[in-house]
Amino acid sequence: MLLARRSRGALAAVARAFASASEAVVEAAPPNALERFLVDKIRVSGPITVAEYMKTAVASSSVGYYGMHGEEKKVFGEEGDFITAPELTQLFGEMIGIWCYHELAMTGHKGAWNLVECGPGTGQLSADLLRVFDKFGEKDVSLHLVEASTALIDAQEQTLCGQRTSNSSAPSEGQSWLRANRTTTGVPVYWYANIDDLPDGFTVVIANEFLDALPVHCFERGGGKDGWCERYIGLDGKNRLRFVRSKGENIHTKGLIPAEVRDDTARTSWECAPDAGVVMHQVAGRISSHGGFALFIDYGHDGSRREPSFRAYSKHKQVDPLSAPGEIDLTADVDFGHLKRVLQGAPVALYGPHSQREFLAQLGIGVRLRRLIETCDERAKQEQLIKSYNMLMGDMGERFLAMSIFPKTLQPLIRKRGGAPAGFNGAPGAEKVPEEGEEAKKE
Ligand code: SAH
Repeated sequence: MLLARRSRGALAAVARAFASASEAVVEAAPPNALERFLVDKIRVSGPITVAEYMKTAVASSSVGYYGMHGEEKKVFGEEGDFITAPELTQLFGEMIGIWCYHELAMTGHKGAWNLVECGPGTGQLSADLLRVFDKFGEKDVSLHLVEASTALIDAQEQTLCGQRTSNSSAPSEGQSWLRANRTTTGVPVYWYANIDDLPDGFTVVIANEFLDALPVHCFERGGGKDGWCERYIGLDGKNRLRFVRSKGENIHTKGLIPAEVRDDTARTSWECAPDAGVVMHQVAGRISSHGGFALFIDYGHDGSRREPSFRAYSKHKQVDPLSAPGEIDLTADVDFGHLKRVLQGAPVALYGPHSQREFLAQLGIGVRLRRLIETCDERAKQEQLIKSYNMLMGDMGERFLAMSIFPKTLQPLIRKRGGAPAGFNGAPGAEKVPEEGEEAKKE
């Protein structure tokens, strides 16, 4: 089935992943309510870290940026501030759905399983995944969504279930979920505030553009001899937010900056998202004790990026990250290299990161595109499909990276299949098929 194009004309606007941190445009609008709150807080208790600023301005359930999504303020799409791959085209969700189903079959798991999406936005990706599973006649799946914003929980429920059951998002006595419903095709769906609240059981975790929204600490070299300091947000003479620096090392520079970063004398800045590391541990723990696997897709790098990446977007343009907290999208590139380091010693096997382009190409997105074009008789829709494909596989395909995590216990099975999960041949962590009598080699 070919679905209607989701975002006319927004194709040129997928710029969020590309801009550098230094392109911000300074804007001086009057302070909004959240900025006034932050200013008061800073006046009373001193400057806050970039991570604290980001946490408050992005993920506070109602006053944060994602909490603002609604009729009046759109976060996603042409009318919003940015557009994501599932919002751009059905091709993306279909390929991820096929990947999940294939990998699920390969594990040999039978019976009930939990599909988890972290940070589901409007719920579009989950809807696309469920449509694929429905086509395959899947009956054992239940959907579990981890979401911080009540407004987006409403939007997701509307997308998936066609109606809203409740406006309240507080868990009741004895239950870990915030809300429960059934999708239009009868799949049970539950919402949670945190990964730790998810139920036990075989779990497949998907997260697209989730990790980039998690708070980062920003560090700069220069806190005393060979030392590091942290970027904070304080106040200027007019009580407006501005960046300041710690005088020297603090608990975060000492606790978070690893030896390889300190020893790399050419490096003058470093960002770290401890919450993203926590997510990695939570997911790794879950899939290694209950079975399952996970896929993360986001814009980022393998640890080699040297410039700061913390930045903000509004209406598809890069803006001053301190300009209107809660009204603008705050984001930072995902350091996949660091996340891999965080998982060293965990009982999991990592594949990737490598480019979204390579991942989708190996899954056969080109064949799927041709099939969709053949079955579509509207020229405008065909052109739209080709444009979306070019976006997914062009610059965006290079800039976005995919990384998967499997329990170590599945590694022998993956080795037998050819050394990597589907889409990850030749990626870091993939193993070559051993020749007769030869031991498997790391790529
Ligand atoms: N995955 C979607 C949307 C990505 S935007 C897509 O590809 O279209 C980021 C999503 O993560 C939003 O749904 C946002 O509300 C959610 N989010 C951000 N910080 C979060 C946190 N700390 N906990 C749970 N969800 C969070």
